[in-house]
Amino acid sequence: MKTIEEIRSEFPLIERMNRDGKKLVYLDSAATTQKPQQVIDQLVSCYTTTNANPHRGAYDLAEKATRVFENTRTRVQQFIQAKKPEEIIFVSGATEAINLVADSYVEPILNAGDGIVVSAMEHHSNLVPWQQLCMRKNARLIVLPMNQEGEIILEKLAGLLSEKTKLVAVSHISNALGTINPVKELISVAHDNGVPVLVDGAQNAGHHPTNVTALDCDFYAFSGHKMYGPTGTGILYGKEKWLEQMKPYRYGGEMVKAVRFEESSFKELPHKFEAGTPNMAGVAGLQAAVDYMDDLGMEFISKHSDALLQYATGKLQEIEGITIVGRAARKSGIISLTAKDIHPHDLSTYLNEYGIAVRAGHHCSLPVMEFFNIPGTTRISFGIYNTTEEIDYVTQCIKNALNYFA
Ligand code: PMP
Repeated sequence: MKTIEEIRSEFPLIERMNRDGKKLVYLDSAATTQKPQQVIDQLVSCYTTTNANPHRGAYDLAEKATRVFENTRTRVQQFIQAKKPEEIIFVSGATEAINLVADSYVEPILNAGDGIVVSAMEHHSNLVPWQQLCMRKNARLIVLPMNQEGEIILEKLAGLLSEKTKLVAVSHISNALGTINPVKELISVAHDNGVPVLVDGAQNAGHHPTNVTALDCDFYAFSGHKMYGPTGTGILYGKEKWLEQMKPYRYGGEMVKAVRFEESSFKELPHKFEAGTPNMAGVAGLQAAVDYMDDLGMEFISKHSDALLQYATGKLQEIEGITIVGRAARKSGIISLTAKDIHPHDLSTYLNEYGIAVRAGHHCSLPVMEFFNIPGTTRISFGIYNTTEEIDYVTQCIKNALNYFA
């Protein structure tokens, strides 16, 4: 078992910044995680040993590229416990995964008067695509409410569903509040009413084990860059029965079987959703990220995140003037807070002076801020490289900030 110090030494950005005397306390992993050396090496290695356009050439190098690409698909399938590699579609991020489902699954079946249910705590990526689709189709965007703790009111779900509901779209973990939603129970209620569910797993996949088969979700969207992998990589998991019946999302090279001027036919899964040259190096890097997390063990990663959350919550709530926004009984390693009437941007700018990187603002969740009647929060979020010493340090700096701005 590696120590956190050993893990930290595997993240060159964190290691280098601190070695050079420029302190970096990186507490913004919910925005994007830092990358371990083996992911960076894999990107370089891809360009120095494997670079070719996958699925296209008959020569050795192209076959090697194809192998790496398809092996990653299988690794991701295993990582989230999907039944088949064909159910894994490579996209650019959670945002694209959600838009793909909006365009290819929901759009063709959504009629005027139909409904799509989202929760009150969605990231804009899992809200705006549905809102815009509803506007185009004269359909209704229905909001599953939350309580003052920042927890979904699950008992209200069944009453919002009808034969006109085409999808429930909900985050596994809220990026603004850290709430872990009861997605398994929610999926079961939706399915009892004949409604499929898309889970936005962007904040879960890098921090806790993911089992799409046990969840029984219909779609699961997540981003590689939030799980120690490269930017520009993302995954849509979809149940084969839905993906089979969906129309392609983008049209172009490699997703077609035959093309004539009059018509075209399209490839089987998963290729019909992957038009154009894919992000080959990114996907190779993603494989290294999955290997990295698997080597550490998702249970270990999850426990570390939980321990930091508990420790930091205890420390922060002792500070007079600090209010933690989002007090759900089940939370992941994200803490949103307000500090008296200090604007979150002022607090984060102050903390930056001490080498602390935190996010300030609405976190792409404006309706959540409106619900709590605040302009924004300062958000602290953890990764596998964070330590309790860093939490002690940030706690002290926040106390100092309260004095400074008093
Ligand atoms: N959903 C949630 C819950 C997120 O936190 C994010 C990223 N902040 C996204 C979706 C969008 O992910 P990406 O920007 O990688 O597409």
